[in-house]
Amino acid sequence: MTFSKEYFERSLKVAPGGVHSPVRAFKSVGGEPLFFKSAQGAYLKSVDGQEYIDFCQSFGPLILGHRDPDVSKDVREIIETAWSFGACEPYSLELAEWITSKLKFVEKIRFVSSGTEAVMSALRVARAATKRNKILKFEGCYHGHADSLLVKSGSGLAGESSSDSAGVSEAQAHETLTVPLDDIQAFERAFSSHGDEIAALIFEPLPANYGLLIQRKEFLEQIVTRARKSGALVIFDEVISGFRVGLGGMAELLGMKPDLVTYGKIIGGGFPVGAYGGRSDLMNLVAPQGPVYQAGTLSANPVGMRAGLSTLKKVVSHDVYSILGKRTANFCREINLQAGLVGADLQAIHFGSIFWLHGKTEKPIRAISEIPAHHKEQFSKLFKALLKQGIYIAPSGFEVGFLSLAHTDEICSKALAGFKNAIKEVYEV
Ligand SMILES: *Cc1c(COP(=O)(O)O)cnc(C)c1O
Repeated sequence: MTFSKEYFERSLKVAPGGVHSPVRAFKSVGGEPLFFKSAQGAYLKSVDGQEYIDFCQSFGPLILGHRDPDVSKDVREIIETAWSFGACEPYSLELAEWITSKLKFVEKIRFVSSGTEAVMSALRVARAATKRNKILKFEGCYHGHADSLLVKSGSGLAGESSSDSAGVSEAQAHETLTVPLDDIQAFERAFSSHGDEIAALIFEPLPANYGLLIQRKEFLEQIVTRARKSGALVIFDEVISGFRVGLGGMAELLGMKPDLVTYGKIIGGGFPVGAYGGRSDLMNLVAPQGPVYQAGTLSANPVGMRAGLSTLKKVVSHDVYSILGKRTANFCREINLQAGLVGADLQAIHFGSIFWLHGKTEKPIRAISEIPAHHKEQFSKLFKALLKQGIYIAPSGFEVGFLSLAHTDEICSKALAGFKNAIKEVYEV
């Protein structure tokens, strides 16, 4: 029996499903989860002593790879200086000043401890500012696990909401309208029937939590214009895309200005940090300046603040976006080449350093209904074949993969050799 297996059996007795976040249980791909004990750069080491090249990178925060040496130095220094005060300190001030000086649409910012908390708080601000209750989101966009966001529409038409999770009240679910991505008519219908009740339109400008559903720029421009016409606020959820596709995230790439924006993942450099920010008139509604209550015992924790700032500074000084963009393009090109050689029903797409593997389609996939039906089953075979080659990707076909600065050309070549074998194993007849 492997140590992973033994640990999982023990875990099942003390934690629901043996895990502290669902995807970790490998349910989507089948089999039992691996337990990891350490990580460095692009590599993970399991409790069974196996090494893996890691393309999950903790689901996105580690843009420099695991325990980047420069970030590590700053983290060790701050651990010797301060852990938590629950009082004012200069570390969050430095990160807040750095971000607001670089991102013009973030006039003020508030740090929290997760992406979920950031989104939850931004919605509260939007409801307070507009004195409206409803939220519009898209099917296939994930915004964390706040009650009102665990909802998708039954019919794709606004109005009939039901929850994705037990334990969410009808009343909560009722406040959330959901429409499909890339469908301007459905969006229009939702706004023409509920426009004056909608406090905010929230979306991932680069949807990357149900595969990678790259949107048309015109669609994003149309929805933002339509939402504003009805007096709704526009919230960009950039928890995954923020500081990942560029320093200013999708807002900067698209040249669009959200009213509020949410961050997480990279902003804490691998520690639990989230943030929401945007127009100062809206952020001034937050306590103690305004009437919207939001607080946190460990908010702006010095370790997370320092790790975040250290990560972001290095991202800028090392030209990380341009390097990773090229490396990821090359990486996907090579996978597609290998797939082509054996006629595999497999395609790698990417946006910056985010990639996604899926079955071949004629047109780019922009909405969840366009994902091939056999996707989950095919992905699980590929996932297992890759594991055998010493390659770890997120254990679900609906999660994306990430390259980090630690994924050097040499490591990518090594991974590609593994992909080649795995693709042959799964697809060659
Ligand atoms: C990861 C993610 C969240 C949730 O963040 P947590 O830190 O896991 O709570 C919210 N929105 C998006 C777009 C995300 O990718």
